Amino acid sequence: MLPTKIAVIGAGPMGLVCAYELLKAGYLVDLYEKDDRLGGMSATFDFDGLQIERYYHFICHTDYPLFKLLRELQLADKLQWRDTQMGFFYEGVLYPWGSPWQLLTFPKLSMIAKLRYGAHVFYTKSIRNWEKLDHINAIPWLKRWLGGKGYDMLWNYLFELKFYEYKENISAAWIGARIKRVALSRKNLFQESLGYLVGGSATLLQALEAQILTRGGQIYLTTGIDCLVTENQQVQGIQVNGELHRYNKVVSTVPLPYVPRLAPNLPADILQKINDIRNVGVACVILKLRAPFTKNFWMNINDSTMAIPGLIEYTNLYPMPYSIVYVPFYMPSTHPKYRQSNIAFIEEVLSYLVRINPAFTKDWVIASHVSRYEFAQPVCAPNFYQQLPPMQTPLQGFFMADTSYYYPEDRSISESVKMGKQLAQLVVGKD
Ligand SMILES: Cc1cc2nc3c(=O)[nH]c(=O)nc-3n(C[C@H](O)[C@H](O)[C@H](O)COP(=O)(O)OP(=O)(O)OC[C@H]3O[C@@H](n4cnc5c(N)ncnc54)[C@H](O)[C@@H]3O)c2cc1C
Repeated sequence: MLPTKIAVIGAGPMGLVCAYELLKAGYLVDLYEKDDRLGGMSATFDFDGLQIERYYHFICHTDYPLFKLLRELQLADKLQWRDTQMGFFYEGVLYPWGSPWQLLTFPKLSMIAKLRYGAHVFYTKSIRNWEKLDHINAIPWLKRWLGGKGYDMLWNYLFELKFYEYKENISAAWIGARIKRVALSRKNLFQESLGYLVGGSATLLQALEAQILTRGGQIYLTTGIDCLVTENQQVQGIQVNGELHRYNKVVSTVPLPYVPRLAPNLPADILQKINDIRNVGVACVILKLRAPFTKNFWMNINDSTMAIPGLIEYTNLYPMPYSIVYVPFYMPSTHPKYRQSNIAFIEEVLSYLVRINPAFTKDWVIASHVSRYEFAQPVCAPNFYQQLPPMQTPLQGFFMADTSYYYPEDRSISESVKMGKQLAQLVVGKD
């Protein structure tokens, strides 16, 4: 009997891990990637001579699937931890943020609101089963815990500037899992601790690439697939540049909104489910500065004159000779602002930086760049478990997942590692 041939579509971390696992299980695997490089959202680019990710990546102490894979690939020593600091820019003043002491000394919230905030984080850290919160809307849930003023001060800006018209329809389980992940990434109650890979995400991507090639897999870059080819609801292969490539099975790891075009033969109810899931895009400004901007890795912003909910000074996690600052503008890609030029995004950020740190001047900027990803974040609405179509589709031999399937977890490379493995197990289990 001929060995089973499998095509994996998308060479972000999920596709790479899925291909690697299928090769370990003895299948013949080809990996197809539309981009000219591996990595998807985790890909690296040449930023004025510096190889760095298009989007910032930090690792949390609970990213267990990633740790397991790093050990397996003998990369555990590349994982470094660092004590990190947070800031909160509120009404024109930058406050230290993130520890119980900093919360207690923050002058803008009442003692009752602070206690409610602390109790909410404490409770959320302990949640193990998200089923109940899956049915609940995030904003009323947060308001119940924090009060209206606490919600307005601590969360409203993030919801408005990340989800725009979708903000009223976010699952409490999703926001809860996000709070839990960061809250558990601490050395102790008083000290946040985050991780990074020496060499960035590229270290992991390159190791997976080497494993795939050594095990006989093929990787085709700059090769977006046109569509799935089926006959009588059974996969025959994929179409690439108008040509049929025969496969017994196909696994898609591309963002779900692309799937209806790739697999229009999926049953109507599944196509409907996919089309009902909303996503937001990101235009992420990256600056290379000659001097450190602040001491914080992460800064939350709540300032009605600034249209950003935060910024990330990556080099306060991963030391480099320069300061690297990422400023993500999340929004639905249908928003008119998403179409504005890169220069306009960069100028907007520079006008904010002077206000956050008055010492900052434009001549600190050595280089600037804007990375964009149209489907950067699925909008996980209440009852999202029911909204997700099955990973093993009714088309025989066609499997799919993307970052929506992490639910209720937020996006992370670690979750893609977990999903890539799960996809491979589903495929293997069907043989
Ligand atoms: C701004 C931002 C910040 C983030 N911060 C963090 C963080 O701090 N820590 C963390 O762990 N994670 C973070 N993430 C998330 C992390 O990058 C993602 O969870 C992860 O990279 C997703 O990988 P994936 O393989 O599942 O999907 P993707 O990265 O979306 O990969 C899908 C791939 O499919 C390809 N593709 C699409 N269409 C086709 C086609 N027709 N044919 C072939 N290929 C196709 C795409 O080009 C892409 O390479 C962040 C993401 C963003 C955007």
